[in-house]
Amino acid sequence: MAPAHVLVFPWPLQGHINSMLHFAAGLLDAGLHVTFVHTEHNLRRAHHAEAVATPRLRFVSLPDGLPVDHPRSVGDLKDVAKSLMTTGPAAYRALLASALSPAADGGFPALSCVVADGLLPFAIDVAEELGVPALAFRTASACSFLAYLSVPRLVELGEVPIPVGADLDEPVRSVPGMEDFLRRRDLPNSCRRRAKTDDVDPLLQILVGYTAHSCNARALIFNTAASLERSALAHIALHMRDVFAIGPLHAVSAAPAPAASLWREDDGCMAWLDGQADRSVVYVSLGSLAVISLEQFTEFLSGLVGSGYAFLWVLRPDMVGASQSAVLQEAVDAAGNGKARVVDWAPQRDVLRHRAVGCFLTHAGWNSTLEGITEGVPLVCWPFFADQHINSRFVGAVWGTGLDMKDVCERAVVEGMVRQAMESGQLRMSAQVLSQEVRRDVAEGGSSATEFQRLISFIKEFGKN
Ligand code: UDP
Repeated sequence: MAPAHVLVFPWPLQGHINSMLHFAAGLLDAGLHVTFVHTEHNLRRAHHAEAVATPRLRFVSLPDGLPVDHPRSVGDLKDVAKSLMTTGPAAYRALLASALSPAADGGFPALSCVVADGLLPFAIDVAEELGVPALAFRTASACSFLAYLSVPRLVELGEVPIPVGADLDEPVRSVPGMEDFLRRRDLPNSCRRRAKTDDVDPLLQILVGYTAHSCNARALIFNTAASLERSALAHIALHMRDVFAIGPLHAVSAAPAPAASLWREDDGCMAWLDGQADRSVVYVSLGSLAVISLEQFTEFLSGLVGSGYAFLWVLRPDMVGASQSAVLQEAVDAAGNGKARVVDWAPQRDVLRHRAVGCFLTHAGWNSTLEGITEGVPLVCWPFFADQHINSRFVGAVWGTGLDMKDVCERAVVEGMVRQAMESGQLRMSAQVLSQEVRRDVAEGGSSATEFQRLISFIKEFGKN
């Protein structure tokens, strides 16, 4: 029997690429072959990607349909989405067709199945049309998936869209398993009514459609663990037979993960951290997509400085509107009084593992949330969009490992929450207990490790046909 060969296709965004590359690393550990699909633009940006290709891992690329010199900035995501959805299917079909037979040089066996990002429904449909079984991989939390699954019912009950000016702290009682703690503000922000329209936000309609579509795939894979989302996973399993919770994936593979950063990591911050006392530094990162206004930057900076703690802040060059990063850097240096360090992009998992880091001020993107939890670091969450609000609620109200700053940014709140996260023994202890639980999940015999083995057997069954 030929060895199994999986084509892994993430949405071309950092958070999606990271978790699916970790997934690929797990497949490689299990002896499988992996073809990993980037867009051409990202393959050029994914520094070192070539260097980590191995005899059983290869990178291929598809055009995203935009001109080479298109900026593809965070403000242009709609362009990328539209273009990829239009031009992607034909190029992807050709790529799949060529992978259906074993490689002429004998290196790669014929494709067994596709694991596609749940936000790329065409990748699932085209594969199935060509007779290749397709599984959906969701890179966000299971609780957010369940919230999207529940939206049609919330619309029916008149809970969504949430009226303009409504009290966002009002409870939402119709998402199963979350009746006791979910508030309007914790739903994806596309659930909020847009001014001057009565309709459900078109983006919400699309995302709800993708969620339902994922349930039609052969299986659903989540980068999560039973100890984090047991209840949400159980409710999702009512909609779909084969649901695999196999995370946190960055903690699964023993081998170093293939490099995935679309930005150059500034390793210099590690030496700076070496010079700081244990648990004395606030690590601040809002992920790869969040954009803040200059007012928010100033408010945030004042809060951080006011806390009195040293901080390491990831300020992507495209993060604060049109402001020049040099100007922002100067502002931080001046205000930080020798206790601040700014980087464009950090080696985040190494930073979180460093003994000097005392808390993580995060936008609560799912990868960042998982990385912080795994390292047992208390979190302060400032959510922006998509699953970040609900993740933030889970951190504050369900896991008790951090604080939910909600989507407000006031210097006094930042200052107070940073102090609390740095100083609360209770938060630190809860964070460390949860860290041990998820580490047990991914260790041999743990729920995620066992589910990963079950998934490998599931995939190998396709290889037999
Ligand atoms: N990340 C990183 N360096 C940084 C900031 C972020 O390596 O300076 C990584 C982080 O470890 C995580 C990913 O980028 O794996 C961000 O994904 P997440 O889901 O947290 O947020 P998104 O970028 O999708 O909003």
